[in-house]
Amino acid sequence: MENKKNIRRVTTQELESYLESKGEKKFRAKQIIEWLWQKQVATFEEMTNLSKSIREELNTDFYIHRAQVSSTQTSNDKTIKVAFTLEDGHVVEGVLIPSGDRLTACISSQVGCKLGCTFCATASLGFQRDLYPDEIVDQVVEIDKIANKTYDQSLTNIVYMGMGEPLMNYDYVVESVRWLTSEKGLGISHKRITLSTVGLDEQIKKLADEDLKINLALSLHAADDDKRNEIVPVNKRYPLPKLIDALKYFYEKTGSRITIEYILFKNFNDSLDDASKLATFCKNFPVKVNIIEYNPVEGSTLERADDKEMEQFVEFLREKINIIVNVRRSRGKDIDAACGQLANKLHHKK
Ligand code: SF4
Repeated sequence: MENKKNIRRVTTQELESYLESKGEKKFRAKQIIEWLWQKQVATFEEMTNLSKSIREELNTDFYIHRAQVSSTQTSNDKTIKVAFTLEDGHVVEGVLIPSGDRLTACISSQVGCKLGCTFCATASLGFQRDLYPDEIVDQVVEIDKIANKTYDQSLTNIVYMGMGEPLMNYDYVVESVRWLTSEKGLGISHKRITLSTVGLDEQIKKLADEDLKINLALSLHAADDDKRNEIVPVNKRYPLPKLIDALKYFYEKTGSRITIEYILFKNFNDSLDDASKLATFCKNFPVKVNIIEYNPVEGSTLERADDKEMEQFVEFLREKINIIVNVRRSRGKDIDAACGQLANKLHHKK
């Protein structure tokens, strides 16, 4: 493999030039791309509309690599955590979450993360590297296969909410969305894709200007800069007023309602005063709010809010403020597949 290139990491132009240098027509690149990204073949041999000689040439100069499912674990509530081993041995995790008639894949965008949110298990891994677009798409393809095998149904939704901050890996994440949604790729509707961010204002605006039309979720967790600084350190760089500006811009450009994710922590952000601040934050643009039950992670002092506080908090937003609120009881707890828990417990490279 030494001098061979991973064919899914060369650009269309590079592939076209390569083909021309071998005396082939440029349009063959399009055919190859379809085999790779739409039909998901594993070998050049399968590219049956190409001549044998060009298939052999391709095999000499390139290779096809796909992220391998190295293990799966199913929790009591049927959530399935999937570990993927990448070409360089790193491991990332994705999760298949069945809920009602939905089958959602939660996928990773980085190996580890550098943002250090205090409630998050991924943060403890530190940052290893960004995922390439193909490694992000592979998670969807494999989780979809598991969905079909287990539930006889394809994925209905995809959320970029696994390991890593997607907007810190902006270019590759955007490219992965294009492969997921485009006709030459998997053709999944953009409406079914949500990117979840802790809120990097410049990148949110940039994303609004792309023609992706995907949904945006903000992991807010505190609608007060002092509190948010404590649990989401990057908030010091992108404080709430900047975030509000960016989200307003996103809404104006896309017309897409913002999802606000809010994990309730005991005696930290679960009072009615906190709910009122959240309500004020939400007045800036159309939102729906997901209130999430916390799964304590090792090394964090934060605890799950009591049920009573959770009920009061939710009722306040729903009844007094009239906000759409969903309560997300955490899923996959027994296998560490719940929100903020992906940390390669079994596979963490030492
Ligand atoms: S919550 Fe997201 S951004 Fe924060 S450390 Fe975890 S993975 Fe990174």
